[in-house]
Parts: sequence; C-alpha cells; structure tokens
Amino acid sequence: MSIRENLSHLKQSFVSKHCLLVAVSKTKPVNAIQEAYDAGIRDFGENKVQEMADKAPQLPDDIRWHMIGHLQRNKVKYIAPFVHLIHGVDSLKLLTQINKEAQKNQRVISCLLQVHIAREETKFGLDMNELKEILLGPDLPKLENIKIEGLMGMATLTDNEEIIRSEFAGLRTLRDDLSKESLPENVSLKELSMGMSGDYLIAQQEGSTMVRIGSAIFGERNYH
Ligand SMILES: *Cc1c(COP(=O)(O)O)cnc(C)c1O
Repeated sequence: MSIRENLSHLKQSFVSKHCLLVAVSKTKPVNAIQEAYDAGIRDFGENKVQEMADKAPQLPDDIRWHMIGHLQRNKVKYIAPFVHLIHGVDSLKLLTQINKEAQKNQRVISCLLQVHIAREETKFGLDMNELKEILLGPDLPKLENIKIEGLMGMATLTDNEEIIRSEFAGLRTLRDDLSKESLPENVSLKELSMGMSGDYLIAQQEGSTMVRIGSAIFGERNYH
C-alpha cells in the first residue's frame, strides 16, 4: 500500500478525532516525507538530531518538526532554531540547555517531559518523584524560554493489552493529578504524547492527544 493509502486507513481507524498524528519519518528518505506531506501531514517526528537537521531544509517550511528521541545536551543547538516540540525531555539539565538555546534564537521552545511508564529498565524517562521535583521545584519558573506542554510515555513492548492499557491510563492519571497542583506559568499539562503503530488505539482510548506513528505509515524500518 502507498503512504497515502496507509494514512487514509490510519486516520479512519482513529477512535479520537482530535488526536494529532505525528508521522515518524526516522530513517525514511525526504521523498517519502514529501509524499506524506502531499497527503496533508504537517507534523513529522525524528529521533536523531543530525537526521532532522539534514532533512528540514530540503522540505517545506510549514512542517512542524517533533524531536521524539533522546536528546543530548550538546546537540540542542542544531535544532533549536526550528524544532516545534521536543517530546523526550527527562532532566532539568536538558531543560536548562534547551532554554539557553531557545533564548539565543529568541523563541520559546515547547517540550514534553518523558515519564518512565514501561516495565523495561532500558527506556528513558523520569520516575514520579523526579517529575514532581522538576514541575514543583524552584528552577522551572526561571526558564522563560521553555514551555512545558504535557507528558510523553512509551508502554512496555508486549502483546499483553492490559499491561499497555494500565501504563497509558497511569500516565493520564498522573497528568490529571499533577494538574491539580499549583504549577508554574510556563507549564500546561494539556498534551499526552502516547501511542505508536502497535498501540495507538489503546493510547487514544486512554486519553492520548498525540500519537507518534512510523511503520504503519512508511512501512517497516531496516535499521534503528
Ligand atoms: C520510532 C518511534 C516511534 C514510532 O514507532 P512505530 O512503531 O514505527 O510506529 C514512536 N515513538 C518513538 C519515541 C520512536 O522512537
């Protein structure tokens, strides 16, 4: 099936019509991205700084680029001029660096805080205490060129739907609970970035506001 057909099937399957589709184009060539763009997609996700910085100038200006991978502090500068949303922020040090680069570019950069919700040890993300420390601590209000828009999480890689569902539900509950706290002005927890090709329907049922979908649009990847 073509990219256009995949997108059309995907959109029809969505149970939440307001959920944003971020097309994950990592490892895919610019002509594949252009094809999805021509089918109406404007939000694209990449997980490598170099790849995003290489692709962006070759594609239309109105694309919103989402950094969905783990971001190293020394690489923030390469995407700071144009990145739309950074999904995987998991430390105050990284937030501070993003703020600094945002300031240099005279803009505010939107971020999501990544929460560790999966059973696997290897995935990145904050635990509940670290998350609270950042959101309610003294430093975040000073980062005036940062806007926290919500939380991001990746479920355990498993066929067990109940495990996936409970992890997504847990992230939503965490978001709802934290929203009741008195949060700094540069924090809104409106967005929940959860769901990929294999689990986006469960994620939408549990309140996802943006899904990050790659292989169901572009086909299987051969590497990373
Ligand atoms: C690759 C990736 C995705 C998309 O995965 P698919 O299974 O191809 O949909 C989503 N989120 C993150 C963080 C990724 O690295």
